[in-house]
Amino acid sequence: MSFDATALANPITRRLRAYDPGHDLPALRARFGGQLAELGSNETVLGPSARALAAIAESLPQVLRYPDPQGGALKRALAEKWRVECAGIALGNGSHELLMLLAQCFADPCTSVVHSEFGFAVFPIATAAAGATPICVKALPGDHASAPYGHDLDALAAAVRADTRIVYLANPNNPTGTWFNDAELDRFLRRVPTSCLAVVDEAYQEFVDAPGTSSAMRLLRLHPNLVVTRTFSKAYALAGLRIGYLLADAGVVGVLERLRESFNVNSLAQAAALAALGDAAHLQNVCTWTRQERNWLAGELSARGYRALPSQANFLLVDLGRDAGGFERHLFDRGVIVRPMAGYGLGHAVRISLGTRSENERLLAALP
Ligand SMILES: *Cc1c(COP(=O)(O)O)cnc(C)c1O
Repeated sequence: MSFDATALANPITRRLRAYDPGHDLPALRARFGGQLAELGSNETVLGPSARALAAIAESLPQVLRYPDPQGGALKRALAEKWRVECAGIALGNGSHELLMLLAQCFADPCTSVVHSEFGFAVFPIATAAAGATPICVKALPGDHASAPYGHDLDALAAAVRADTRIVYLANPNNPTGTWFNDAELDRFLRRVPTSCLAVVDEAYQEFVDAPGTSSAMRLLRLHPNLVVTRTFSKAYALAGLRIGYLLADAGVVGVLERLRESFNVNSLAQAAALAALGDAAHLQNVCTWTRQERNWLAGELSARGYRALPSQANFLLVDLGRDAGGFERHLFDRGVIVRPMAGYGLGHAVRISLGTRSENERLLAALP
């Protein structure tokens, strides 16, 4: 008897592809020992707040218990930070989960979802997983003055149809590092009808220092269809714990709560995130260091003739203007891991996350 699991899978899942992790990092760590410079995943090498680490240690004996399914303590701290109601907050196992959950709850095969070319990879994945029609809007050109390969907000707003349930934006965007300012977002949101959620992914917002560019949080009261996602994976340096959140209208959160897995955020993550929120000084250090290191590395790269695109995130997209495969392998052979961009349709570029100063110097020394 033959058994074909793929044929049994539902038609939506059958069309999906499994996540490609790129490199097998555990194997590479074993091969290179401590000599591997991991500049591929946009992590924060300064590490989390000491208070977050202490909170994890303190919570360890309680791992025999289920976590708080409401995340009450963390939500209360977030509600105070953002001056919103707890009912307007949802917690996720990383913001990735929340981006997926939004599509699961609001999109379906009879609807469409709008996102940008070169936008965050999760947007088309969430769209496909919901079986919705993807509307991929052409990005700004690569020679654009302020946002090469960035979101074209006017074109994105124009692409929203009557059947569109979600338009996803990332500000700053991964992998381009590009951003849009407050005036551009204001104009965009005025054009998106309330039949469509405008999801602004702010995974890197803490690192922004461009003038006139602030968080979309300020607009939540004005636009009930606005959803803003955040993560503890980047500026808070808790990527391994998997925790993120979103702020939205309480009605939107109420819908998400119907499908959210009850214990999606583990207890160590909840405790660490709460403690990390309380350590504003550490966050400030991380952000100041990130902006300085970003400027320094961009300067060093351009001094060597490389085109690092303007970035407000904790990584640089380097446009080589030719296939980046050889460049990436050259660095790989020297124990420097950067992220190839062919999967994004940017085969001529690589994304380089900020490492420690000595890792960044190793990168520069290893450049072809
Ligand atoms: C890293 C990243 C996230 C965060 O994902 P988590 O699941 O919270 O770790 C979200 N959006 C973008 C654009 C990112 O680059």
